[in-house]
Amino acid sequence: IVQVDNVTKAFGNNQVLRGVSMTVRKGEAVALIGPSGSGKSTLLRCINGLVTPDSGEIHAAGHAVHALQGNAERIALRKDVCMVFQQYNLFPHMTVLQNIMLAPVEVLKQNPAEVRERAVALLAKVRLTGKEDAYPGHLSGGQQQRVAIARALAMRPSVMLFDEVTAALDPETVKEVLLTIRDLVQEGMTCILVTHEMGFAREVAHQVYFTDHGLIVEHGAPDTFFDAPQDPRTQEFLGHIL
Ligand code: ATP
Ligand code: MG
Repeated sequence: IVQVDNVTKAFGNNQVLRGVSMTVRKGEAVALIGPSGSGKSTLLRCINGLVTPDSGEIHAAGHAVHALQGNAERIALRKDVCMVFQQYNLFPHMTVLQNIMLAPVEVLKQNPAEVRERAVALLAKVRLTGKEDAYPGHLSGGQQQRVAIARALAMRPSVMLFDEVTAALDPETVKEVLLTIRDLVQEGMTCILVTHEMGFAREVAHQVYFTDHGLIVEHGAPDTFFDAPQDPRTQEFLGHIL
């Protein structure tokens, strides 16, 4: 459902991606790990069309992402491939329910009553029933991040991209967000997760990809990857973390 072939990207003379390939099948969760600056966020941004690669091809949820033409195609892609960021960027002057309903109603022009019903169900899914009319400022970081996840799900995407969504959270609220993501994976949502939570990656991911200096150095099933990493760079990285 996501196929990345030999993608390169440079910002000025900083070569950030040097020929990255990745295959994600429907229903699979892929964890993408690697040192800071190795190009993880840039790769996710390429996959949902926020960054245009210099060369290579990306196909995601039926879209030829490397060759998007115009705004309509970009919007269509972002309906199918939704990204959740470290900064949840909820609108502070809108309630939780209004935040979740905004894009489906205003961008996709869906029926507000139906979207509301879906939004209420999504809040239950992210374990926030009862917070419909709360404002983001009155919620914890973990609760706000779960609203951001519900907001993405309201688009009914085929693929979800998570970029270090727990990195800015207090330790107590990290767990509730990880549980929400685990639920999604167990329901069969296709996900790519950039994360520093190695225990979570091992438990939840079907495949782990390791990036270093803009290259995929190694990938494999989590048990093999964590127990018997093959590449010295992976060994060194895991050695520092575990
Ligand atoms: P981290 O773990 O710190 O989030 P990362 O693996 O996500 O790191 P990227 O954010 O993809 O790394 O950044 C890779 C490199 O690309 C960095 O050197 C960064 O400074 C550079 N970079 C990323 N986005 C841009 C941009 N829009 N303009 C210029 N340089 C950029
Ligand atoms: Mg990043």
